[in-house]
Amino acid sequence: MTSTVADVVASLVARLPEGVVVREPAQLEKYRHDHLHDPSAGTPVAAARPLDVEQVRTCVTWAAQHGVPVVTRGTGTGLSGGARAVDGCLVLSTERMRAVEVDPRARVAHVEPGALNVEVKEAAAAAGLFYPPDPGSFRISSIGGNIATNAGGLCCVKHGVTSAYVLGLSVVLADGRLVELGGSTLKDVAGLSLTQLFVGSEGTLGIVVGATLRLVPPPPPQSTLVATFPTLRSSGEAVVDAGRTLRPSMMELIDRRSINNVEDMRPSGLDRGAAAMLVAQLDWPAEARALEKICRDHGATEVHVTDDPDDGEMFVEIRRATGPAVERRGAFLAEDVAVPVDALPDVLEAIDRVAVDLDLEVPVVAHAGDGNLHPAILHDPRDPDQVRDAHRAFERIMRIALDAGGTITGEHGVGRTKRAMLPEQVGDDVLDLMRSVKTALDPAGLLNPGAGF
Ligand SMILES: Cc1cc2nc3c(=O)[nH]c(=O)nc-3n(C[C@H](O)[C@H](O)[C@H](O)COP(=O)(O)OP(=O)(O)OC[C@H]3O[C@@H](n4cnc5c(N)ncnc54)[C@H](O)[C@@H]3O)c2cc1C
Repeated sequence: MTSTVADVVASLVARLPEGVVVREPAQLEKYRHDHLHDPSAGTPVAAARPLDVEQVRTCVTWAAQHGVPVVTRGTGTGLSGGARAVDGCLVLSTERMRAVEVDPRARVAHVEPGALNVEVKEAAAAAGLFYPPDPGSFRISSIGGNIATNAGGLCCVKHGVTSAYVLGLSVVLADGRLVELGGSTLKDVAGLSLTQLFVGSEGTLGIVVGATLRLVPPPPPQSTLVATFPTLRSSGEAVVDAGRTLRPSMMELIDRRSINNVEDMRPSGLDRGAAAMLVAQLDWPAEARALEKICRDHGATEVHVTDDPDDGEMFVEIRRATGPAVERRGAFLAEDVAVPVDALPDVLEAIDRVAVDLDLEVPVVAHAGDGNLHPAILHDPRDPDQVRDAHRAFERIMRIALDAGGTITGEHGVGRTKRAMLPEQVGDDVLDLMRSVKTALDPAGLLNPGAGF
């Protein structure tokens, strides 16, 4: 007699403590989508919320035995469809694996994957240390998700992205084996760098069940600069110029449409007519004054510098508010291209032309200091013409980035939304190489099928 899906799921339920597996449709709904809420998301047969590594291994071994795809999920804040469920999969959610343990003498944190980024930051701060990577979602995204997407963020322009802080990983492989990679040392060249192979692998090669993260001493109190510019080009040129002599710890750009979105949501007297606004932070007041001069040399209309941490935080919050402010405008496609920094002025203008050509509203924010742009392509999902044009814009912006020597994704990952464009960036040989690695680690193709490459 052939077993039904219900029997197969029941066999997983039987192997785990009560409450680990959920399978009611209403309970499963929240495990189907990432932050994009794509209506085409599949329906899982179950979601597992393991409490420890052994329970993860039980899930993965069961999935391998029954040929069930596994979509690993942190907190589902991803913006590229990476944690989107596929039909018939098991969603493996790390939400209940949240431990964080700091070793201040070794300057490392041992973390479980479901710990939120903010929880790691807070634990590090309590020990007098600092965990720098700070995606805009740091209060709501998991460390496992940050590692699996190699998340960037606001202060990465100086401090580097997640990969720079991952010293060791515990990974459950597709056949259920547990491997320990790297450790707590700052240097390690024993064999191939498999630790880094898993960073940014978007749940396609293995499941991160633990990480050892590097912590550093906290930076000094920050000086903050806010400057508005009459043109996109002048703001971009100021960023390029600043990078030659200064090392800001934040260099964010907010364009006119994003400024207006924030003002509409939370009026705070921003200059609605400015073409762009830069929000920068620097470790030393003298550097902030030097940046002020650079901005003025590039025609900034207003420049404000403060050494007061509360004032500074207020300006950074304006940058953070650009996300919620665009979300309340309705549906949008989330872009994440990155280009060599010197291409920033041209690329900002080229993206603006795409918006004009296709008659779409495309607010842009950028981690400008590292050339990473986030155009949000607004459209009405009920209007087929606009949906088509939004997808055209999405593709055209990726091509603009590629033509400028850049990448289709700087930090959100390929996920499912950018998969079709990946061959155009990396070419057949590199794609084959990626697939060989995948086949070696996951021959049955069960880990996050359809995502990445
Ligand atoms: C308001 C907002 C601001 C954002 N700002 C930034 C930003 O500044 N920088 C940035 O980089 N991103 C940003 N993001 C995107 C998102 O928060 C990041 O990609 C984040 O790293 C995803 O973490 P998560 O826990 O939500 O992962 P999920 O969305 O749950 O998963 C993301 C991917 O990681 C895989 N995955 C998750 N956990 C594991 C694991 N333990 N093992 C293996 N694979 C796993 C999933 O399968 C999926 O492919 C933002 C998102 C929002 C909503």
